[in-house]
Amino acid sequence: MKLQDEVDYAAAMKTIRYYSTNRNLDGAGKITPFKGRVSFRDALLQGQAPDEGLYMPDRIPHISHEDILSLKGKPYSEAAMLVAGTFLADEVDVGTLRTIIEDSYPFTVPLENMVDRKYIMRLDQGPTASFKDFAARMMARLMGHFRDSNTRLNVLVATSGDTGSAVGEAFKGIEGIDVTILYPQGEVSERQRKQLDTIGDNVKAISVDGKFDDCQNLVKEAFPDPSLAYLCFTSANSINFGRILPQMVYYFYAYAQLCRSGEGIVVSVPSGNFGNALGCEYARRMGLPVEKLVMPTNENDEFPRFLEKGTYEKVSPSLACLSNAMNVGHPSNLARFFELYGGTVDRTGTVHRDPDIDAMRNNIFSVSISDEETKRCIKKTYERHGIVLEPHGAVGWRGLETYLECYGDFPLCVSLETAHPAKFPDEIVKLLGIAPEVPDSMRGIDERKGNSVRLPVDYTVFREYLRDNLKSEV
Ligand SMILES: *Cc1c(COP(=O)(O)O)cnc(C)c1O
Repeated sequence: MKLQDEVDYAAAMKTIRYYSTNRNLDGAGKITPFKGRVSFRDALLQGQAPDEGLYMPDRIPHISHEDILSLKGKPYSEAAMLVAGTFLADEVDVGTLRTIIEDSYPFTVPLENMVDRKYIMRLDQGPTASFKDFAARMMARLMGHFRDSNTRLNVLVATSGDTGSAVGEAFKGIEGIDVTILYPQGEVSERQRKQLDTIGDNVKAISVDGKFDDCQNLVKEAFPDPSLAYLCFTSANSINFGRILPQMVYYFYAYAQLCRSGEGIVVSVPSGNFGNALGCEYARRMGLPVEKLVMPTNENDEFPRFLEKGTYEKVSPSLACLSNAMNVGHPSNLARFFELYGGTVDRTGTVHRDPDIDAMRNNIFSVSISDEETKRCIKKTYERHGIVLEPHGAVGWRGLETYLECYGDFPLCVSLETAHPAKFPDEIVKLLGIAPEVPDSMRGIDERKGNSVRLPVDYTVFREYLRDNLKSEV
């Protein structure tokens, strides 16, 4: 028979807790480091650590080679069960997790062959035709499961486009949670506006007469406002660990479908805030044989420059490129990459401790792809291989090609397509002379009727709106 404390020890070994990337920042500015560890539930519902750091798991679970290979020929949900289960085993029972996952992924994950054994993984089949659906849908359902059943949660997001609609659609119909999305009137495309305004149900969009930063400031002011504390705000932005976890899954899924006998794979992830690539970094640490993680950026080249030179300098203000969801001059998830390699960087871009850059270079390749190269790549892949890429996916593919040109060919490769080409019809028509096929999820969007609320950039008016329209009870 086991002694009591042996049993506890085993339980403690198994349980994953989450700590803050800022925990070591004693004496750095106004930050009071948070030195505690929290459950997945708390990390999910809080979004960010109290010291504004990002939550990191204190242990990375291992998935055996056998388990990975067993996913071959299985549906996507099996990969999600395997990967999410290793993190959530002691916080969510298996039956509940299965319901959450089946409900999150009623769509396919096509692997399109480009040439030889090089593939495009299309993560664009979800309801908003963006890879952000993968993370947002699972996070929404996990929040629905973990929320305190007596209180309503109010998700508040500022968006400049795609995140808002993915988050809005993901939370649609989730009981006990309402979503308010703020977007800048003049900075979203007509189609994006339609997408946001017409979600309906428990999701409301507010069009703000200002810029994205104004939206973000209104949200930031509302969160700590004591007169609104009764509304239980939570955020759903890309730094929530609940959005990172689902982004580990598709790497395992793709590998299992494409591998022959346990060989390595090169993965290319077009990168902006680095949340998607972080999923691959974790997947490798969990046991996936990733030979190289390729992280191409657009002309916002702070990371490739850092890998080359060893000193970090953010791009500020960020540059407006064709792949607009990647126009990021200081990626928020860089803090997690630094942490995994023994370094510390805060959200202003100040490096407090250098990461092990040799180890980073060993695992990661990064390159900046210009808009010109992006366009050339869209044309070339269509002419040579009949495959239509949109600007983000083209940055990914061109980044992979660049890596192979520098380091020699590698048999098995996958590059991610993170949005559907139909989201960029003008660019595609201009370059290819054909209109991309519109997926079911986007059909009829221009005719949908929506009703948005319009507000000025004025916190007092915004607060009144929240007080009048949001509820605290279920
Ligand atoms: C958000 C987004 C990206 C960038 O992903 P990160 O996780 O922020 O690096 C790439 N492509 C598309 C289409 C996106 O919406």
